[in-house]
Amino acid sequence: MRTTTTALPEHFDVIVVGAGISGVGAAWHLQHQCADKRYVVLESQPSFGGTWITHRFPGIRSDSDLYTFGYRFKPWTGAPIATAAEILKYMGEVIEENDLAAHIRYGHRIVSASWSTPERRWTLRVRRVDGGDEITLTANFLWMCQGYYRHESGYTPRWPGMADFGGRIVHPQTWPADLDTKGKKVVVIGSGATAATLIPALAPHCAHVTMLQRSPTYFRTGRNVNDLADMLRALEIPEEWTHEIVRRKVLYEQDLFARRARAEPEAVRRELIENLRGLVGDKVDVDLHFNPRYRPWQQRLAFVPDADLFKSIAAGQASVVTDEIERFVAGGLLLKSGATLEADIIVTATGFDLSVLGDIPFSIDGAPLEFHKTVTWRGAMFTGVPNLLWVFGYFRASWTLRVDLLGDLVARLFKQMEATGATMVVPRLRDADAGMELKPWVLEEDFNPGYLARGMHLLPRQGTAEPWLHHQDYQRENKELPRASLTDGALVFEA
Ligand SMILES: Cc1cc2nc3c(=O)[nH]c(=O)nc-3n(C[C@H](O)[C@H](O)[C@H](O)COP(=O)(O)OP(=O)(O)OC[C@H]3O[C@@H](n4cnc5c(N)ncnc54)[C@H](O)[C@@H]3O)c2cc1C
Repeated sequence: MRTTTTALPEHFDVIVVGAGISGVGAAWHLQHQCADKRYVVLESQPSFGGTWITHRFPGIRSDSDLYTFGYRFKPWTGAPIATAAEILKYMGEVIEENDLAAHIRYGHRIVSASWSTPERRWTLRVRRVDGGDEITLTANFLWMCQGYYRHESGYTPRWPGMADFGGRIVHPQTWPADLDTKGKKVVVIGSGATAATLIPALAPHCAHVTMLQRSPTYFRTGRNVNDLADMLRALEIPEEWTHEIVRRKVLYEQDLFARRARAEPEAVRRELIENLRGLVGDKVDVDLHFNPRYRPWQQRLAFVPDADLFKSIAAGQASVVTDEIERFVAGGLLLKSGATLEADIIVTATGFDLSVLGDIPFSIDGAPLEFHKTVTWRGAMFTGVPNLLWVFGYFRASWTLRVDLLGDLVARLFKQMEATGATMVVPRLRDADAGMELKPWVLEEDFNPGYLARGMHLLPRQGTAEPWLHHQDYQRENKELPRASLTDGALVFEA
């Protein structure tokens, strides 16, 4: 008689989901702060980078400075605003210098995650993207670094007549490698950071590029250099020091700006607009096209290095139209004002589709997880969801700052579990929290980009007092998180 043996699934102390800037950071923290933990990083794409390999449109670059978008543990030595290729090189060095490669499995997409309290572990079904076969892995703890948007495709609204358009419609997130824009009339729909990056990269060789926006966006401009970093280098200060000093200065100035934007929005608005007026002169009606309805920083404020977008506009290679689309027509777009825009190519720089927990169906002890019904513990863990932490970075400061703060938190959490013999930690509202008002994951008056507004109903809620807040304030969290109590009863540890 033939006997079959069922091999036990491979087991890890920690599974990290995603090898973007968050997942690679998580691996570094595990390696350096939790050396006894057996861990693996699972990534569905064929390489690391997340955002920075998904997006391949011309000109792709960061819009925050790399002194803060870089990790605290690896000095950034280039210009503050970096291309995707430079960010990937930096991440590659982090992987190589810290022997992280052996811990990362590419082409592994997690398709379900279920928690069992009796077994005190997560079971993941994982599809191998190449072979298509499925494997099962188990873990004591899940460190979710899957980002916040769906990587496969971007968000494109449906407009009437799209099928009538004779040219190509492309989304920057899925930029076709064969797209030839030379000598073409291009309309870019949208005026966020992606449009601001793409347009100056396309403008010099296109017939013309038009940025079509429904409503204006704020832009800041500045040289793509950091004078303090250059001075410290001239003084031969070690790069580690330069990194730390420049980080602190950048953070200080960003914080000052964010606070000013709240305290005196009209003054900040005027400054931003007058800066642009100085760049484009009378080529553009600045009050019409660059004076947003919202206050500065209520949506991400795009930084335009060396003002390249505005140089393209001033040179007449690019222009701005503020109007709405009535319909697509064979030769371009008919606008609500009655005007038409001729186009060979239409780029929909219209944003993302929010992806909550990597689109992975979760269950807890057999019941589907209703994530939107949970309440967040410090924007990182969730009531009723054991042994799981999600990295959701900052909007107004670099995302990566939170990666490092949460790396320290995980290390503290694991030490606390070891010290108390706990195998499970789960946030639970305490008696004292009963009746607390619950608010959305991100408060609309604080930050309201389209992808969040469209997906807010899928996201956890926050309360009105610590530790149930997700306040998106790096300066505050930098002080509070390292000292945040793990023993105030909001986290329940069980053996
Ligand atoms: C064009 C662009 C420019 C940006 N510029 C900046 C900037 O300058 N500064 C800033 O702070 N932020 C910026 N952002 C926001 C940016 O996304 C974050 O800062 C950061 O890169 C997110 O990193 P992450 O690792 O958390 O997520 P991602 O970069 O989204 O990576 C997540 C990874 O998880 C993988 N994954 C997801 N689900 C699964 C699954 N089920 N199974 C296996 N793997 C999975 C994905 O394939 C992906 O590789 C930018 C975003 C875009 C799109």
